[in-house]
Amino acid sequence: MWHDTGTSAGLLPANPSAGVQPAVHVENPEAKRRAHELIHSSGLLAELLAVEPRLATEDELLRVHTSEHVAHIKAQSALPGGGDAGDGFSPVGRGSYEIACLAAGGLIELLTAVAGGDITRGYALIRPPGHHATASQGMGFCLFNSIAVAARHAQEALGFARVAIVDWDAHHGNGTQSIFYSDPSVLTISLHQANCFPPNSGWINENGAGEGAGYNINVPLPPGSGPAAYLHAMTEVVVPALDRFAPDLILLANGYDANVWDPLARQMLTADTYRTMTRQLAEAADRLCHGRLVAGHEGGYTPWYVPFCALAFLEELAGTTTHVTDPLAAVAAGYAAEPLLSHQQAVVDEAAQLVPRISIPVVAG
Ligand SMILES: [Zn+2]
Repeated sequence: MWHDTGTSAGLLPANPSAGVQPAVHVENPEAKRRAHELIHSSGLLAELLAVEPRLATEDELLRVHTSEHVAHIKAQSALPGGGDAGDGFSPVGRGSYEIACLAAGGLIELLTAVAGGDITRGYALIRPPGHHATASQGMGFCLFNSIAVAARHAQEALGFARVAIVDWDAHHGNGTQSIFYSDPSVLTISLHQANCFPPNSGWINENGAGEGAGYNINVPLPPGSGPAAYLHAMTEVVVPALDRFAPDLILLANGYDANVWDPLARQMLTADTYRTMTRQLAEAADRLCHGRLVAGHEGGYTPWYVPFCALAFLEELAGTTTHVTDPLAAVAAGYAAEPLLSHQQAVVDEAAQLVPRISIPVVAG
């Protein structure tokens, strides 16, 4: 919560001479802090096993990032006023290097607990987010790609051979895609709003390259997609792709910015949609990889609604419910009532045609 994104006006760096008045950066602690407080006050926290994060080491970061990028973030973080991770829209506050290392290290510690058999499912409520960061550049508020660092750690330190990364943040998981684009041992699937962020990224024809051809799947959903479109994508693309890939571990880049009130996207999901999608993923994990499902927090910029989405997600992940129900459910239901529309179905059905390109693994013995 101490990662300082400064005085940007929403997502624009303050610049009085250009008329951009200082304000509050849209990626600030509030949605995450309030999510944590709701998880606590609902009583759910008391039912969970807390896993203490640690700093990811430089060697762990270097499994996915270039040494130049790691050095850049470290140098920006040491400046009295901080700096930027690479695209001019990704503030690095003073000390953000260590905080970003804690975010990646939190996921690593969670995976270590999973590998040790203490738990099967976990959620790292971390910031800064990570899924836009490429090997060599931070972007889209992301410094290091925590989920990618975690996936490589799972493979190289914990013995999980095949890792699937599902990304349902409203924006394209471009960084994760680029890091594993030629690697068939990591299946990357991104559901996102078409052409939202980054621009011109995340199309269906970006399907992996070389040995990794077929192992990157994008579902660029039209703006205005709600529960019907997302659940169709989960049922027709995500779950069949996971079934075919048969991962040893499922990681989730868990953004809540496809919620109906998010300022940085135009999708229409409710807390209940996140609950349903989580159930689908958890059932796949139970079927395929001994229940191993680990999520890292990504986007979600509505401080007053993200906490209810996060609680629904975590209740479902923990296989329980609390006395807290989504107080906005009735309002959200109106937005979310739209049936699956033909232009949404067309995108999902086109992406579903990629699933057979995933080779069925040969299982020894
Ligand atoms: Zn996002």
